[in-house]
Parts: sequence; structure tokens; C-alpha cells
Amino acid sequence: MILLRKPGEVQNFITNLKSSNKTIGFVPTMGALHDGHISLVNQSKNENDFTIVSIFVNPTQFNNPDDLKKYPRTEEADIALLESAGTDAVFIPSVEMIYPQGQISETFQFHGLENQMEGKFRPGHFDGVATVVKKFFEIIQPSRAYFGEKDFQQLRIIQEMVKQFNLPVEIIPVPIKRESDGLAMSSRNMRLTPKMRQESVIINKILSEAKSFLKNHSVAETKVFVSEEFKKTHLELEYFEIADEAHLLPVSEVEKEVKIRGFIAAFAGEIRLIDNMSLN
Ligand code: AMP
Repeated sequence: MILLRKPGEVQNFITNLKSSNKTIGFVPTMGALHDGHISLVNQSKNENDFTIVSIFVNPTQFNNPDDLKKYPRTEEADIALLESAGTDAVFIPSVEMIYPQGQISETFQFHGLENQMEGKFRPGHFDGVATVVKKFFEIIQPSRAYFGEKDFQQLRIIQEMVKQFNLPVEIIPVPIKRESDGLAMSSRNMRLTPKMRQESVIINKILSEAKSFLKNHSVAETKVFVSEEFKKTHLELEYFEIADEAHLLPVSEVEKEVKIRGFIAAFAGEIRLIDNMSLN
């Protein structure tokens, strides 16, 4: 596995690969890697000649400075895990290299996709995400890029950005990878206390229950159900939304031909967790 730290090194490398017509799969991450990330790597390896993973904790997408400061950083273990997964290259740039002019986001408009849920509760988050992903696409010029459905809204926004700017990259969604008890894998899980780790299983459980509940109840009733269920736990629900997959707009009723998902953000102590599930 090749370790690259400078955008210029990546560009030289990519130029060589492109001149021999190799396809490049790209997996952007913030490190503290787990099996969820590795499922993206595996899919990229299956579909491309060359797989490159980036590790970059992007400051512009954090609206909470404490969250940025405490975000887990495990570079050595990440490199070992990527190597054992058969990754071809890893790109680990410094903040200064990605933001030579200072840590500023571009401002984007994604037809309202950016205003709901994560966008509403984390102001500026998606401008930061889109800014950094666009920069990485320019440096790496991937044929395909892999995004987890764990961050479903992020995935939809990146798809929209690619469309809006005609970027020559195919976005591939990858299903959510879960722990054996159902908790969605996340780099933040390692910050949970043992008690909160146990409690957090309830997020996925409530999503599954909401899916069953919605079969015989309205959207409004299902929202009340979820909020009542959370009151019985030690977690604090930030939002539960039922939205259509295409526009991420809240729906008020279920229509057969419209794909919908349930989206949850909840605090387990000071750790903010998100999860989502297809509801039809
Ligand atoms: P992150 O390092 O959290 O920014 O995530 C990097 C990529 O991995 C994003 O596309 C995430 O959606 C994806 N990812 C993170 N956790 C999971 C998971 N449990 N299952 C599938 N993809 C994931």
C-alpha cells in the first residue's frame, strides 16, 4: 500500500494510472476506521483496478469545535487495517494542504436537500462536506466514489453536487454495516461509555419498530410513537423524521410509489449518533 501525504504526489500518481486506462475507486473517510469503512473499500476493490482511501478529519464540516477536537484519531491502526484489506493507496493530507487559504467552505445550494435533518441541526455541515469532497475529487479524479447509506443525506447531497457540477465520477451507495446487536458502526461508537454503548442499540430497535408501527398507523402517530419510546431510554432524541429518499422532504403520508426512510439523530451522553432505515 502506498502512503501519500501531498496532493501533488497523488496527482502524479493518478496521472500514471490514468495513462494506462486504470479505473480508480475512491473512499473518502475521516479515519478511526471500522468494518463499515472496509465494506466501502471491498466494494471499490471489486469494481475498480485501483482503490485509494483518504483519511482527513475535515474541520469545515464540524459545527461544534469540541466534537472536532474529540473526534477519534487512530492513524497507525487505520493504516494497518487498510493494508490488511488490500487497499492500494491511502492519502492523508494535512489541514493546511487542503485549505491553503484558510478553513473556509464554499456555499452550495442543493434544492433544499441541505436544509432538513443534519442540515438543520448542524448549520454549515453540508457546505463543509461538499467543499472537501469537491476538492478531493479534483485531486484524485476517481472513476467511482463510495459513500455509505449510514450518512444517507450526505450521499444524496454528493449525488446532487456531481449532477450540478457535471463531475466525471460515479457515486456508489453502500448499505449500512451494523454491529451484531444492530448498532450502526460509527467512529463515534468508540467514545461511548460501556453503559451508553449498550443503550445505543435501542436506536436501531426503535427504527425497526417504527417501520412495523407505520404499517397500521399514520406518519404523525409514528412520530409520536418514536418520541415516546425514546423517553423510556437514557438517550436524548434530537430528531426523528420520515422523509422521501429523493428530496429528503418530510412526508405526511405513505404513498406506495414513493420510497421513504426514517432518520434519527440522538445523543448517548455527549456522543451524537445517527441512523436511518428504509420504511417501504
Ligand atoms: P466517516 O469516516 O464517518 O466520514 O465515513 C466515511 C464513509 O464511510 C462515509 O461514506 C460513511 O457513510 C461511510 N460509513 C461510515 N459508517 C458506515 C457504516 N456503518 N456502514 C456503511 N458505511 C459507513
